[in-house]
Amino acid sequence: MELLREEIQNEFVKKIEELSGQNVYACYQCGKCSAGCPLVGQMDILPHTILRLLQMGQKKEALDSETPWFCATCLQCSVKCPKGVDVAGIMDALREFLRRNGVEKMELQKIADRMWKKIPQQGLVSGFRKFSS
Ligand code: SF4
Ligand code: SF4
Repeated sequence: MELLREEIQNEFVKKIEELSGQNVYACYQCGKCSAGCPLVGQMDILPHTILRLLQMGQKKEALDSETPWFCATCLQCSVKCPKGVDVAGIMDALREFLRRNGVEKMELQKIADRMWKKIPQQGLVSGFRKFSS
């Protein structure tokens, strides 16, 4: 398959970089972000692979992934990245991009009343942060 520069560095990737304030090409695929992520067991695509998809301009694959929605915004990945890439910020940007295009997967109203007192406060804060990007 032939990959053209203009197809890889497309408008979608530029928008994610703009929303996150990050340079996705700074990532050199060391995998430390994924190694430290506590939610990888729930994710369909590992965080460092999301970065790779963005580097390759793979819009559909990046946007179809459940990973940004399972991200708890714990910032482990951003702290561990040796290249200073704010991976959590990129997850935020992907959710924001999807929301601006009418996709919403955070449905807090569906959480049963009996669950509210059981949910860890950190989980709640992380969940609500997803609405503030
Ligand atoms: S911020 Fe998200 S992607 Fe990064 S380590 Fe935490 S849960 Fe994983
Ligand atoms: S830790 Fe940083 S450099 Fe390493 S794979 Fe993740 S984003 Fe890329």
